[in-house]
Amino acid sequence: VAHEGSAYIDGQWVNGSGGRLVLVDPATETAFAEALDGSAGDVAHAVDSAGRALREGSWRRRGIDHRLEVLARVIEGIGAARAALAALHTRQMGSPITASRALVDGTARMFAAYRAGAAKIDARYLRRDAVGQSIIRRDPVGVVAVIIPWNGPLASVVSKVVPALIAGCSVVVKPAPSTPLEAYRFAELCTEAGVPDGVVNVVSGGAETGEQLICADGVDQVNFTGSTVAGRRVGELCGGRFRRVSLELGGKSAAVLLDDADLDVAVPALTMANFFNAGQICVSLSRVLVPRARMREVTDRLAEAADALVVGDPTDEATMMGPLASEAQLRRVESYVERGRGAGATVLTGGSRPTDRPSGWYYRPTIFVDVDNEMVIAQEEIFGPVMCVIGYEDEAEAVTIANHSRYGLHGAVFGADPERALSVARALETGSVTINGAGLTPGTPYGGVKSSGLGRDHGREGIESFLELHSYVVPAELVDSRQADGWALR
Ligand code: NAD
Repeated sequence: VAHEGSAYIDGQWVNGSGGRLVLVDPATETAFAEALDGSAGDVAHAVDSAGRALREGSWRRRGIDHRLEVLARVIEGIGAARAALAALHTRQMGSPITASRALVDGTARMFAAYRAGAAKIDARYLRRDAVGQSIIRRDPVGVVAVIIPWNGPLASVVSKVVPALIAGCSVVVKPAPSTPLEAYRFAELCTEAGVPDGVVNVVSGGAETGEQLICADGVDQVNFTGSTVAGRRVGELCGGRFRRVSLELGGKSAAVLLDDADLDVAVPALTMANFFNAGQICVSLSRVLVPRARMREVTDRLAEAADALVVGDPTDEATMMGPLASEAQLRRVESYVERGRGAGATVLTGGSRPTDRPSGWYYRPTIFVDVDNEMVIAQEEIFGPVMCVIGYEDEAEAVTIANHSRYGLHGAVFGADPERALSVARALETGSVTINGAGLTPGTPYGGVKSSGLGRDHGREGIESFLELHSYVVPAELVDSRQADGWALR
């Protein structure tokens, strides 16, 4: 995909009227491509195309089984393009090639989970109450604007766009300015698989393009993934327009190690959760809460695991952690590490750039100890390879520390008794918690509370977020006949 200066609209490449974005390889700091920085006109064109496709209606009319069949072909197309897509991901954001391949492979599992969820959706049902009866339908919400970040662009496109398409919506995607190419390739694969023209459109650009999209006439819903600062602005813009919005925002998630946690389970999980993708993951478990009595033992093991990570050229098969995705990310991480030191936290390992990498935005996996939860490094999302280890005396204090955060995206509890771990998890103010592990399963509803956002992605609930209820209060005979046809009464 090298259609510099073009957007993908109505099933084809269209010359844009905006400027150019320059794409830079984080491992070499050299520019390798340009892409469109979409203008208001480009955005309006894409939204018109999505609206037309919706009104023309073949995508929503053909029904969910047809849509799933076509989307299965899109996912097959992604699988067939695995090598090229993984290479693109590595080039754009510096993720190790092995991780990029795993992310591409993960899209098939994500689709399988959506497909299973789709089978459980009641798109129509009946209701009777004391004064009458109704037919209730859940229809596609309409034209959806999908705005995604740079930290896992293909996974983000699949996890946000596919459920909207399963629901029968049309979409306009605005990928992040540094990583637009996967979304474009995805749109091409949709056309090749038989998604009707105009159902999937992509216009790349930055924040300004994003705001133009959110505010464009014809957009019915906004699905935003990104930082809390930008999410607040997006929420305000949508609120003023009564536009439905879901916001998947930042996190500063806590992992609670109980006194009987098995370190053979916890240490690899926490290493992955903090240093995969160079720590640029929203569900990073960047606050690790450890009983003071086990502090030394735990931090020794964590440091050993961090030091064993091979940091280097992301195209090398042996590399486990590549560079940060941009120079801005590197500066951000450096500045937080300095603030941590200045506040009195101790760098146990890392805390600097590797000396053997003359170019590229590399940073070493970093662990802070002697961290107080009030410190900036424990309160703000760093979005880089920086773990903060915080000590606690008892379970109640661990829960208090975990919840003392403006965020509430994810969390983890490690302990020998899963029931006890689950009861601690139930006390955490957060959207999701994993017991004795770090990640989520693709069918599990995912999203935050507090400043981590609104709404849920993934699974059946992720599809339902793109459906709108419509009710028809009708004479009894209409409900009777449908009930005889097998419609559920709910
Ligand atoms: P960002 O908020 O700067 O940008 C995200 C996207 O929004 C980009 O496409 C950007 O161009 C666009 N954007 C920025 N300002 C906008 C505005 N005012 N109006 C419309 N669009 C705007 O975030 P980022 O730096 O690209 O990504 C990192 C952040 O994303 C982190 O905070 C991370 O936690 C979060 N994130 C959250 C999830 C989740 O599911 N909760 C997943 C991945 C990343």
